[in-house]
Amino acid sequence: MSDCLFCKIIAGEIPSKKVYEDELCYAFYDIAPQAPVHFLVVPREHIAAASELSEENAAVVAHIFSVIARLAKELNLTGGYRVVTNAGADARQTVKHLHFHVLAGAELSEKMA
Ligand code: 5GP
Ligand code: ZN
Repeated sequence: MSDCLFCKIIAGEIPSKKVYEDELCYAFYDIAPQAPVHFLVVPREHIAAASELSEENAAVVAHIFSVIARLAKELNLTGGYRVVTNAGADARQTVKHLHFHVLAGAELSEKMA
């Protein structure tokens, strides 16, 4: 998608602070962190939101969660972490490319909304 911010980040057209990449996904630190550790993991394939997942394209989500588990060990997130995805206007999704926020590094808010 030519006008998608995260597609441009994946393509290297917009700089980002990379955490990890492989053939299916790309992980980078959020530009406006909401926790001491806050990075995003996105599929390379442009999927607009979690609400656009189907049996045909959802396998990448399992892959991304296994990548997050591995990164959490590598980054020593021993206290745990929270994974969040916003889908649609009510959830305040701002970038229309599926992404998983990984938040960690401190005890997080008891509330999720
Ligand atoms: P959403 O609100 O769609 O769930 O999350 C979008 C996230 O992307 C936000 O946390 C925001 O800070 C982050 N973000 C927006 N633009 C950029 C950017 O250019 N670079 C990086 N690294 N993160 C961005
Ligand atoms: Zn995209």
